[in-house]
Amino acid sequence: MVQSICPYCAVGCGQKVYVKDERVVQIEGDPDSPISRGRLCPKGAASENLVNSPLRETKVKYRRPHGTDWEDLSLEEATEMIADRLIAARRDTWEEETDDGRPLKRTLGVAFLGGATLDSEENYLIKKFFTAAGAVSIENQARI
Ligand code: SF4
Repeated sequence: MVQSICPYCAVGCGQKVYVKDERVVQIEGDPDSPISRGRLCPKGAASENLVNSPLRETKVKYRRPHGTDWEDLSLEEATEMIADRLIAARRDTWEEETDDGRPLKRTLGVAFLGGATLDSEENYLIKKFFTAAGAVSIENQARI
């Protein structure tokens, strides 16, 4: 058994993750957690499925413009496509200064919307990265 933290939201409930033969076999609330004292909400209690469900998507899915079917992409190809589009959108929409010469140094052409399976460290790095890139529209679904 290893102690861990539920990945689904910022509450950070404690979990006990039971592993057998290199495989997660059970996840339950950790009574030693001062945050949750052994409790998990239904989503957290079902998080073993995040690891083992046969319905879990493990490949990048892409639907081309005007396409009607999803296709699999390698992670490398998808990452390259996202990087190319991010760089182009930033370049094409960059605002250096206001009309009267005040510094802006921002882009409104790039936004980021995070999801509930991002953990605190990932959200921290995403906020740092997109702010450094000049984006101002940075949100998480938990705040919407
Ligand atoms: S999703 Fe539920 S179990 Fe997981 S951290 Fe949030 S409240 Fe806790």
